[in-house]
Amino acid sequence: MLSHTTAKLLIVDDLPENLLALDALIKGDDREVHQAQSAEAALSLLLEHEFALAILDVQMPGMNGFELAEMMRGTEKTRNIPIVFVTAAGREMNYAFKGYESGAVDFLHKPLDTLAVKSKVSVFVDLYRQRKVLERSRQEQEALVAQLQVARGELERAVRMRDDFMSIVSHEVRTPLNGLILETQLRKMHLARGNFDAFSAEKLQAMVERDERQINSLIRLIEDMLDVSRIRTGKLSLRPRQFDLGQLVRGLVENFAAQAAALETHIDLQRCEVLAGEWDEFRIEQVVANLLSNALRYGERKPVLVRVFEQAGMAWVQVQDHGIGINAANQQRIFQQFERVATQQASGGLGLGLYISEQIVHAHGGRIVVDSEEGKGATFSLQLPLAGATEQNDQARATSA
Ligand code: ADP
Repeated sequence: MLSHTTAKLLIVDDLPENLLALDALIKGDDREVHQAQSAEAALSLLLEHEFALAILDVQMPGMNGFELAEMMRGTEKTRNIPIVFVTAAGREMNYAFKGYESGAVDFLHKPLDTLAVKSKVSVFVDLYRQRKVLERSRQEQEALVAQLQVARGELERAVRMRDDFMSIVSHEVRTPLNGLILETQLRKMHLARGNFDAFSAEKLQAMVERDERQINSLIRLIEDMLDVSRIRTGKLSLRPRQFDLGQLVRGLVENFAAQAAALETHIDLQRCEVLAGEWDEFRIEQVVANLLSNALRYGERKPVLVRVFEQAGMAWVQVQDHGIGINAANQQRIFQQFERVATQQASGGLGLGLYISEQIVHAHGGRIVVDSEEGKGATFSLQLPLAGATEQNDQARATSA
């Protein structure tokens, strides 16, 4: 690894013959020697390259070697370049340079001793390479630390989500359970007091219906949780078979009629084409049922419009309500797990319905989109690929016409 780094060396001397001699002494395969005949020329090379070492002749006309070295120490880019001064004077000159405390400085004395020059340069070149290796491993470590931080962030998010999940689930499970427990206590009290009027046929009927609603909502919660864990573990399997989407939606609209009537509104099936395709009927029913129940829940008791049609090779189911609507920011959120726009809304789920629906639709190669504005209702469009089914649908329509 050390040998991969080419070390650049700068030699500065006003006499070309000195430069030539020094160049010959210090050059090597893994080194690049740059020459400058003046301090000014050296400065421009220093700005351009990253040097492992600068060998400066002390005595030069104009700016001398010490002055150049002081300029180098004063500049961020060149501050840490080791400097070797070449001087004709005696060893007492060694401390003439004032800037030496800020970086490696050494001296060579004229006439140059070939061996001393070579070994000194080699020491600096090795130091440079080691520094480079350290720098690279520090960068790698930093990258690793950054990766670890990202992973930690993801883990923390996952743990937070699990905690949120637990608290939402416990809260949502408690609501129907509390209802059931209250009912049971009430009935026990009536029984203890011999108050059998409380169990007339009519009252029993209402009781059973209330129980059924609570139990159904518990079942829905558990089904949703199971679906989420299936999706997470990639085990949400589809069982596609041929069926008519129009017929499925028509049946669902009929099933929801009572629920709509209870809210003093209705669902209007405006358009319903015959659309045969290969999908998982149970799962698609789950998606459309979720859209219909949301449209009723958030639809402010205004009529819900439903359309089933073909467009651009896709089967579309559109569910349009005229209720509270969803603003643009929340339209992104609602398809994520546990996202509910406002928790104080009468809610019957964990905020998982649309998340599960989108996963199911994606698994079919389709998509689900929302078009809405706050206060102006929402239109959810489910789009499923018809693949080769289009021709059969044309025939089906021709025969049914
Ligand atoms: P939930 O079980 O809470 O209904 P969903 O995933 O089905 O979960 O919906 C997520 C959230 O999206 C809801 O809590 C609601 O805030 C918003 N939302 C869904 N459908 C509609 C709609 N038709 N109109 C307005 N807001 C809606």
